Amino acid sequence: MSNPIPPTQAASTRTVIIGSGFGGLGAAIRLKQSGDHDFVIVERAQDVGGTWRDNTYPGCRCDVQSNLYSFSFAPNATWSETYPTQPEIYAYLKGVAADAGLGPHLRFGFDVEDVTFEETSGRWRVTATSGAVFTADVVIVASGGLAEPKLPDVEGIDSFAGPIIHSAAWDDSVDLSTARVGVIGTGASAIQIIPAIAPVVDHLTVFQRTPAWVLPHPGKVVSQRAKALYARLPFTQRIARWADYWMREALVIPFVKRPSMMAGAEKQAIEHLEAQVADPELRAKLTPSYRLGCKRILISDDYYPALASSTTTLETAGIERITPSGVMLADGRTVELDVLISATGFYVTDNPMAGKIHGRQGRPLADAYTGALPSYLGTTFPGFPNLFMVTGPNTALGHSSMVFMIESQLNYIVEAMGVINRAGAALIEPKASVAEAHAAAIDEKLPSTIWGSGCASWYLTEDGRNVTIWPDFTFTYRSRTRRFVRDDHLLGLRPGSGSGAMVEGSVPAR
Ligand code: NAP
Repeated sequence: MSNPIPPTQAASTRTVIIGSGFGGLGAAIRLKQSGDHDFVIVERAQDVGGTWRDNTYPGCRCDVQSNLYSFSFAPNATWSETYPTQPEIYAYLKGVAADAGLGPHLRFGFDVEDVTFEETSGRWRVTATSGAVFTADVVIVASGGLAEPKLPDVEGIDSFAGPIIHSAAWDDSVDLSTARVGVIGTGASAIQIIPAIAPVVDHLTVFQRTPAWVLPHPGKVVSQRAKALYARLPFTQRIARWADYWMREALVIPFVKRPSMMAGAEKQAIEHLEAQVADPELRAKLTPSYRLGCKRILISDDYYPALASSTTTLETAGIERITPSGVMLADGRTVELDVLISATGFYVTDNPMAGKIHGRQGRPLADAYTGALPSYLGTTFPGFPNLFMVTGPNTALGHSSMVFMIESQLNYIVEAMGVINRAGAALIEPKASVAEAHAAAIDEKLPSTIWGSGCASWYLTEDGRNVTIWPDFTFTYRSRTRRFVRDDHLLGLRPGSGSGAMVEGSVPAR
């Protein structure tokens, strides 16, 4: 995608959107659809696509169906598989951005360093590491929850002599074909990488800390007939989308209300393991001891066969430290390696972006992940006027498409911006009491859900609070974000343009 307008110094705009993945592109398109064209999308990379631009590791694909993992307003009749591959999702997002004419709004290479609310002007200042600055009335933070790769906190990692490749920063230039390769991690990224590289490498060692629950992969190639039908009669693709949606929505019952109902799926996963791994010792190592769904449920038909291959070793002894030539295990053995692949996830509850954003009195948005600052529907925050966060606290899902949640948030954001315009207000933020009640209701609900059933996961903070998952049906979230509830918010004017005080549900006289 072209970037015809170069980044400008201290430019002013109505809205800055941070990030150009599903969240940022969706926000931009919804603003355009509402008639608002006064925005820029700042992006640290050189292209749109977010996580689907960055995760180029072999085997990368989405574990949600393509018809559901796409914008409702931009269906794609040409998905080649029911579960889309990374190159196809990346191409889809680039196409969506181009079709919406977002090129002139994009500012690539703008790596956000600081986002600060300026009390004197009542506006936001968004600064890049390059020194470029945008001032704006509104900021939409859409930088993503899985954007900052995390290497394992293991002694000696800096001493490793070979390349260390994180799953989200794949390096194609490293030749794996004659290498002894180690993979740390057995999560959603690892279980796609391992079968993709196992046939290629000289020897593969997988370092597992906790086994994953793995179900058979239901993915298929989309037939030419289905594609033709979707193109000719788009409502048929909408029906397929809704079928996928409701099938997944039914999972909220075991996830949230009756975790014991997962026993049936656990049986299916064990049968899958038994059918694919003959060695009882290996099977034992791969059998989880926590409730299925507590961590993300994985789907794969080729993960277990890759682990059972004669050129793969599964190590479960635990990593003591990394040495220049490989890994020393907790039981004293060493594994010699040429390349180390780290499929160890992301900074989520400690996402550095939240530490770069400061509201009134310089308060960091990182407080939203410690429990100190409540959010309103994971999107707005008391003391952060006109700041909206896409995929904020407690909006992630274990069972369905994040694109659905993002679109729900965008409904609220566009409604809120419309209210600001129509009411003649300049500033809007949720009432602290309402946000506190929202956060308290979530905190009360989560411990009895599957995510509170006793495993460690990236959904939890170090002190065990779940600040990532939305513990309910997504249609409940959709209905709560459909309308802007004015009584839940404080509205006000900018300092110097009348009474700067924020008042409940109405606008102070100018
Ligand atoms: P992840 O789920 O956080 O998994 C990280 C893995 O690394 C876990 O197995 C973890 O073990 C292990 N690990 C971390 N530190 C370690 C250490 N010091 N020593 C040994 N093992 C260590 O990360 P991810 O696989 O990148 O997935 C993150 C999320 O991205 C997913 O849950 C999903 O939402 C998304 N994703 C989706 C897809 C898809 O759609 N197919 C693909 C990739 C990612 P423990 O389990 O013991 O902590």
